[in-house]
Amino acid sequence: MQGNKLLILCVIHYYVFSTINDRAMKHISIRYVSELEFKSSLEEIYLDYKSKSYSSILFHIYSGVLDKKLIIGIAETISSMFDTDQVIGSISAGEIKNGRLMDRGVLISVMMFEQADVRVHRFPGAKDKEKRFGQDICRLADSTPECKALELMLPGTNLHTRDLFEEISKCDKSIQVFGGYAGGHSMESSEHFVFDHNGIYSDMIFLVTYSGKDFHISVDKSVGWQTLGVPFKVTKADENRLITVDNRPAVELYEKYMQIEADEHFAEETFEFPLMAELDGEELLRHTITVEPDGTLLLAGYVTEGMNIYLCYGAPADIVGKVDKRLAEVSEFRPEAILLYSCSVRKSFWEDFVNIEMMPFQKVAETAGFHTWGEVNRDKNNGNVLEYNITLMSIAMREGDPVGEAKHVHVDDSVLKGQASLIKRLTKLVYATTTELHKAYNDLSVMNDKLQEMADHDGLTKLYNRRRTELLINECIQNVIDNNGKAVLIMADIDHFKKINDTYGHAVGDKTLVSVSSLMREAAQKENGYAGRWGGEEFMILLPGADADKGYEFAEDLRKQIEGFDFDEAGKVTISLGTIGFDSSTDLKTIYRSLDDSLYKAKNSGRNSVVRAN
Ligand code: GH3
Ligand code: MG
Ligand code: MG
Repeated sequence: MQGNKLLILCVIHYYVFSTINDRAMKHISIRYVSELEFKSSLEEIYLDYKSKSYSSILFHIYSGVLDKKLIIGIAETISSMFDTDQVIGSISAGEIKNGRLMDRGVLISVMMFEQADVRVHRFPGAKDKEKRFGQDICRLADSTPECKALELMLPGTNLHTRDLFEEISKCDKSIQVFGGYAGGHSMESSEHFVFDHNGIYSDMIFLVTYSGKDFHISVDKSVGWQTLGVPFKVTKADENRLITVDNRPAVELYEKYMQIEADEHFAEETFEFPLMAELDGEELLRHTITVEPDGTLLLAGYVTEGMNIYLCYGAPADIVGKVDKRLAEVSEFRPEAILLYSCSVRKSFWEDFVNIEMMPFQKVAETAGFHTWGEVNRDKNNGNVLEYNITLMSIAMREGDPVGEAKHVHVDDSVLKGQASLIKRLTKLVYATTTELHKAYNDLSVMNDKLQEMADHDGLTKLYNRRRTELLINECIQNVIDNNGKAVLIMADIDHFKKINDTYGHAVGDKTLVSVSSLMREAAQKENGYAGRWGGEEFMILLPGADADKGYEFAEDLRKQIEGFDFDEAGKVTISLGTIGFDSSTDLKTIYRSLDDSLYKAKNSGRNSVVRAN
């Protein structure tokens, strides 16, 4: 009997510790099967923990099981045996043990550090306090000596995490940030909570600070989805609700281009074709959780009005290629532990093949993690902490210098041959044609911009042309009427311009026109106004918001400036101006006549003068 027990203990000991070597930090993952088995595994770890002087211990629990009593119980067992609060749990959309997706269950990851200071901080009741907690976390990170990374375990979509992230983004740029959002296995799941030995929380933020001189961490995301076709503009959005795109209900993107109906299968049908939003050069993938009756898409992650969005598709070869690139970095880093936080959409996308992008990490170091409802990552260039979707986050950790040679590991995608290779080829075709389409679209929009520029501007002086100037004046008049505002219109004409042409030639005349125009444009822009060529050597200047006195002053300054300007060959040039200030009480039909009259008076009174309309 005794012998049997000993044998069992030895087997468990071998099972649990076969992956442990003598290097600095340790990472062990345990699948919860029964209380008895779990406790004995923990006891083994406890013996090791007590026999050496570890600096920190950290337990992550990832649970695909929503039995609250069970999971709190598991956290309690850990907390009381180790006499620690360093236990954080999240529900999971797929548990990852040793680089493989487990059958739905409870996974416990144990990390023991020899030098690092790793601490769990709790921010309860975070709803509506996101900004403040973000500031607290930023301060905490900056005041923690040798702080290398922050981990955030978040209870899902119910918090305003943009405010939180905006504040955290202000902490020292060398600090890495990673994490995940809790959510259950089912796509329709409305359960989003984190937990520990004290309970279940839908508004608790768990923060882990990883610090220490000899602690090293490498965090990055892999994506691999490609854009399809031309961009669309988000015209109406509210946080993670995408309401309209190019002024049409958002759902039409899928109905029209993908022939996907807005029914109960919508989410499953569309996750292979998520949306990609562009933000400050970052590419944020967003998949749909549900579609509302008015055609609004409820996305996992926010979008904002004015963003460009694209339909995307997942091509296995591209996705695998991106993971391979990251694998090379991770093996070069030579970690002792790896966390994988991967989006639940990747799990649905790969179906039976999901392990091929995770397994190679296990060849580098002991791997544990979960499938999330959103990933947290920090942009290495601008320091922005953002919420991502559809990424595979790999978090590699090490204490001390790298040991041994970097392993050459790759994603083995040979299983994708056959049926899947057809998909590979088709997606290559789509990629090639999309690239061509993109180029054509870009050429076209450059041409369009040029055409617009030509349609609005005068070829010689580059000022607004007559057509555009009239439009601007009409718009301004309408604005004055609608908002009870005011504005000034100035008409200017070059004095004795014919003489310049006759004396120095037409080319010098042209040059003079260009110089006078630049002076006018600069002056107008300084007052947030516009200058246009009205015809020949006649100009209009519009100053929205200015009153008659201001307009007169402006015209006088401009007159003096031109009088004092050296026009090269043409020498001295002067202009005459008429000005009128108007508001909604002005008889607007007579504006042009009044201006003409004033300019005429200016010419008759000897030119080089300003006359204001009465
Ligand atoms: P005033 O002081 O009364 O305005 O005399 P002016 O000579 O400036 O007026 P007038 O209307 O008699 O002559 C305008 C001249 O401007 C005639 C025309 O040939 C010249 N002009 C119009 N457009 C251009 C152009 O694009 N380039 C050149 N070089 N000359 C132009
Ligand atoms: Mg003239
Ligand atoms: Mg004239």
